[in-house]
Amino acid sequence: MANRLPVDRVSTPQGPQWRRSPGGLVTALQPVLAAQRGTWIGWTGAAAAPGEPPMEPFEIEDVRLRPVSLSADEIERYYEGFSNSSLWPLYHDAVETPIYRRRWWDAYRRVNERFAEAAAEEAAEGGVVWVQDYQLQLVPAMLRARRPDLRIGFFLHIPFPPIELFAQLPRRIEVLRGLLGADLVGFQQPLAAQNFLRLTRHLLGLRPRGETVEVGDRIVTASAFPISIDVAEIENLVATPAVRQRAAEIRHELGDPKTILLGVDRLDYTKGIEQRLTAFQELLAEGQLSVPDVVMVQVATPSRERVEHYQALRVKVEREVGRINGDYGRVGVPAVHYLHQSYSRSELAALYCAADVMMVTPLRDGMNLVAKEYVAARADLGGALVLSEFAGASAELRQAFLVNPHDLDGLKDALVRAINVDPIEANRRMRAMRRHLRTHDVRAWARSFLTSLGVSDTMT
Ligand code: UDP
Repeated sequence: MANRLPVDRVSTPQGPQWRRSPGGLVTALQPVLAAQRGTWIGWTGAAAAPGEPPMEPFEIEDVRLRPVSLSADEIERYYEGFSNSSLWPLYHDAVETPIYRRRWWDAYRRVNERFAEAAAEEAAEGGVVWVQDYQLQLVPAMLRARRPDLRIGFFLHIPFPPIELFAQLPRRIEVLRGLLGADLVGFQQPLAAQNFLRLTRHLLGLRPRGETVEVGDRIVTASAFPISIDVAEIENLVATPAVRQRAAEIRHELGDPKTILLGVDRLDYTKGIEQRLTAFQELLAEGQLSVPDVVMVQVATPSRERVEHYQALRVKVEREVGRINGDYGRVGVPAVHYLHQSYSRSELAALYCAADVMMVTPLRDGMNLVAKEYVAARADLGGALVLSEFAGASAELRQAFLVNPHDLDGLKDALVRAINVDPIEANRRMRAMRRHLRTHDVRAWARSFLTSLGVSDTMT
């Protein structure tokens, strides 16, 4: 179960059709669900008209999909409101001030009930339900109340905050109790699991021991399962002549610079895009870098465009890009190529191959898959990764150029070091990171979580 179904509605000459959406989670879970004759429960992504009956379940690639309907009002309150304006900023270290509205909470609870209801109807006797992410934190307890026979897992894809921050949440007890309905609560980082366990003592007076806590007559386990990517998919993509040729074309279209710096992010205030632009601007101003030797490409995928913080961020980022290009661009050679667009997997793979330095500088990020994708794409062992210490990925990709993105001088220094790195040293770093990824891909992640949940014989 996830907020979204693993499909997108696309228009074709034969009319609108559902296509499997790209992404690691879908890749990892599709074979498990297909082998188990499982169901994926989620929202279709569109608003249901008032009085419109819920869409009937349907099947794609041997997986049954059970749509959950949301009205326009619920999308605003449950999704844009409580999920993305209260929980998202709070769980990301409150880098933007979280907003709390009582009516958002009511919708969040109602929608969580609807998901729990759907799972209670779908799951086989003694079956397993795996609930994904922060939009559905109440589901485990709601589902357990209806179906005590099930094994329930929950995985949080974003960070889990320390006690001092979580304690702000007006409905903190309900959220905590919601999560404790699961048998296994998974996090990206061990520290997040510890935060969660400490909270059960702090807010509920429970007595966590190691990775477990006793809740009534049940044992709940909380531990870390760092998510990963479909390494083979990226390796296959970058091995195709089309992607290789496209990478060369990109370099040429950018004016064959000595160095291409690349950022690929959703346009989100957690991603540190502004800090990255400021660092680049200062390096240009000081003459440490100059156009056209160095150009920056920033893909900033449109995201949550109806949420105020995101609208404000877009204005700030675009003003800064304009300023840098005005001051340092040349005719036909902007300093920053800013792309407020969404790209396909193959175009991204080509960008990764073309980039000499990948800049991943979030202020806080549960994992950051882009960092892992860049490493997976560099089968040539070329390229350098500048990676924030505050991305979950930094716990694994230790050979990256690790930075604190709040420290502007440190960030500038890391960029200069990555740009000038000796190729042998760059290869050594990339090889080490690739070795780690190869054994820690998204299938290993799913297997590890499901094994801990007591499902060991399900993988194809
Ligand atoms: N992505 C994409 N097209 C784009 C930009 C990003 O398909 O134009 C993908 C990217 O390849 C990655 C995911 O979106 O798999 C972003 O995941 P990440 O963990 O980096 O950040 P999130 O957006 O989940 O915060």
